[in-house]
Amino acid sequence: MGADNHQIVVPSLLDVRKGNLAEIGRLLGRHQFKKVVIFFGMGLTDMLGEKVFASMKEAGIDILETKEVSDIDIDSVVDHAFQLPFQTEAVIGIGGGKALDAAKYTALLRKWPFISVPTSTSNDGFSSSNTSLTIHGRRISVHAKMPYGILIDIDVVKNAPECFIYSGVGDLVSKITAAEDWIFEEQNGHTRVDDCALMLSKKAVNSFVRTDFGTIRDDLFLKELVDSLTMAGISMEIAGNSAPTSGSEHLISHALDTFSSKPQLHGIQVGVASYLMSKVQNHRYERITKVLQDTGFFTFAKTVGMTMADFDMAIDRAPEMKPMRYTFLHVANYRELAHQILHDDPILKDILA
Ligand SMILES: [Zn+2]
Repeated sequence: MGADNHQIVVPSLLDVRKGNLAEIGRLLGRHQFKKVVIFFGMGLTDMLGEKVFASMKEAGIDILETKEVSDIDIDSVVDHAFQLPFQTEAVIGIGGGKALDAAKYTALLRKWPFISVPTSTSNDGFSSSNTSLTIHGRRISVHAKMPYGILIDIDVVKNAPECFIYSGVGDLVSKITAAEDWIFEEQNGHTRVDDCALMLSKKAVNSFVRTDFGTIRDDLFLKELVDSLTMAGISMEIAGNSAPTSGSEHLISHALDTFSSKPQLHGIQVGVASYLMSKVQNHRYERITKVLQDTGFFTFAKTVGMTMADFDMAIDRAPEMKPMRYTFLHVANYRELAHQILHDDPILKDILA
């Protein structure tokens, strides 16, 4: 492998605060943007448009076009990207997954900066260079580009349904098991861990799991969650791959997505799988248990109807999801242990039908 020289790009605009959506114009003006296009998630123009438009107007920024995104088929995204005015200086995505995915890919195609404005914090996608698009009917993760800017209004993410907050919690604790898989992979001669990416990803999750909170809608809790998910996204950029943020627990979730009759939000599947894998790895499962218990994640996960049979199948299919990697689940003995824990662990027996 040896030395590589991939370019690391980190966001230049990073603003996580209460009420900053009303200041989006000023924040973009600070970076000299004068002409922008905005992609909204479905229904969000009505909900947030007025505030955004007023702020842009006040800052003297022209909005050349706005669009609500429902379709993330790669062909439609490409087609639309090349109809946008050439004067555009930045593409802003405001929404949950799809608006950000479409805006990120459009920004890549037209070589414009992408400004990521997530309205919920269900995973680390808002701060990563990956985008998820539909290709021939299947949702596929495509490498795109790092956001030039990330702007998150704590008041907005606070009002998102609790499932999105829990999904973010699940995706974040997964960095604990992902790191362990990555180290395991190097110990077995399959890769070289990027020290800096590993440090960043560990710091991100540790800062979060040590934060005191009353409820999951506390401002400080949400700010920690968002900041840590952002750092996790950046650790991927540093590593040049997703290993620092995605290990065996993600493979279980990817597998569930391929066959489950009722796939759940990414971070909900990943959170449960992280708990399972922390027991398989025999690594920091007390900490993961405490966070998932104290936040109410387990109680929520129990309500969505995930099944033990699906998890059994996902454990077996996990290695196929990324055959080139070497996580704990790529080893038959650990898959067997995972099945055993799945059926014996009182928490998993309680959550899964
Ligand atoms: Zn994830």
